[in-house]
Amino acid sequence: MTARPNLFENVNRQFDEAADLLGFSQEIRELLKTPYREITVTMPIRMDDGNLRVFRGYRVQHNGVRGPQKGGLRYHPGVDLDEIRALASLNTWKTAVVNIPFGGAKGGVQCDPAKMSQHELEMLTRRYISKLSMVLGPTRDVLAPDINTNAQTMAWVLDEYGRKNGYQPACVTGKPLELGGSQGREAATGRGVALVAREAWEGVLGHAMKDARVVLQGFGNVGGHAAHFLSELGARVVAVADVGGAVRRAGGLDVPALTAHARQRGGTVAGFPGGEAFDPVELWSQDCDILIPAALCAVLDGDTAPLVRAPLVVEGANAPTTPEADRIFRERGLLLVPDILASAGGVIVSYFEWVQNLQQQFWDEAEVFEKEERILVQAFREVQAKVQEHGCTWRTAALVLALDRVKTANELRGW
Ligand code: GLU
Repeated sequence: MTARPNLFENVNRQFDEAADLLGFSQEIRELLKTPYREITVTMPIRMDDGNLRVFRGYRVQHNGVRGPQKGGLRYHPGVDLDEIRALASLNTWKTAVVNIPFGGAKGGVQCDPAKMSQHELEMLTRRYISKLSMVLGPTRDVLAPDINTNAQTMAWVLDEYGRKNGYQPACVTGKPLELGGSQGREAATGRGVALVAREAWEGVLGHAMKDARVVLQGFGNVGGHAAHFLSELGARVVAVADVGGAVRRAGGLDVPALTAHARQRGGTVAGFPGGEAFDPVELWSQDCDILIPAALCAVLDGDTAPLVRAPLVVEGANAPTTPEADRIFRERGLLLVPDILASAGGVIVSYFEWVQNLQQQFWDEAEVFEKEERILVQAFREVQAKVQEHGCTWRTAALVLALDRVKTANELRGW
């Protein structure tokens, strides 16, 4: 196992490749890399067993020049400030590449939700929001779900924020439909991953989606929905791995049956009777056409990247690829569609949710899906044009587009 990388440094190395092409000065680089604000909060929680535990949480607001800062809130034992800082900056580039009027932020709490009760999670969420609410809000910073948080968590966010500020549904996205959530939000990230995979596989590489073999890491909100939409497009999901185990079937797994199985087994694909179990460490070397990391950061590194056999990698997770793995993929001529484009479907539909809340409108799923696709496909084409213009990787091209937009907005507003 490679040691845990410094994720913010990795993101900034990617940033510099694009900044070189744009001829950015050192001052501009420093200005655009540096987060606006980084907050660490401690949250004492009385656990169900009567003990007091002190949790640590973060919110990094990276850049708000193009609009309110936007980003998810994750609960995970591995959360630290470096990771949240990296993901906040990626969200600045993500909202810019798809050209929605938001900046970038990210939040996280270091905890193990699998070992916590619903009541403990509710107390933790309320404490986190009450400590941060003065810097949140529909025009400042808008939270959303991320790893191990969901619509219920966002309902607590809405309620806690509302205690001090009144009922403002646009302060958070990814809410339950009953509280002003948007149709199509939950599926949006995975759907976007599938659409981007289609654009790359058919439009760039010239193959048909029918029977394309897909391998996924992760079967949660991103991976699970991506599998659903990819199989609707005619692809075959031939292997899936998650924290619990891995399962494969060369003819294609039955995605609805796998989804139903995972729902019954606390989210994991392990033990699925409709496929063969295998060791998750063998996931990267599975023979396939499209590989989709849709779980954690930095899983494709100097050790795992050489094992990859797929000609196309679509990043459903944020920051799943280290710079070393990027270099290996570039040398081997693999096409990698980066996170800031491939996983932008979620934040696009979060933007629709925010718009609907502010205008007190309710769009149906077909309208949401049609608008999401239009924005994503447009961004995909714009990134493709940058690839052709600069002869660079898709990651650098996406960053060129994003950095230029953020810098221009900053110039217009004044430094
Ligand atoms: N989990 C997503 C992120 O932080 C949420 C984005 C959003 O909808 O704000 O990247």
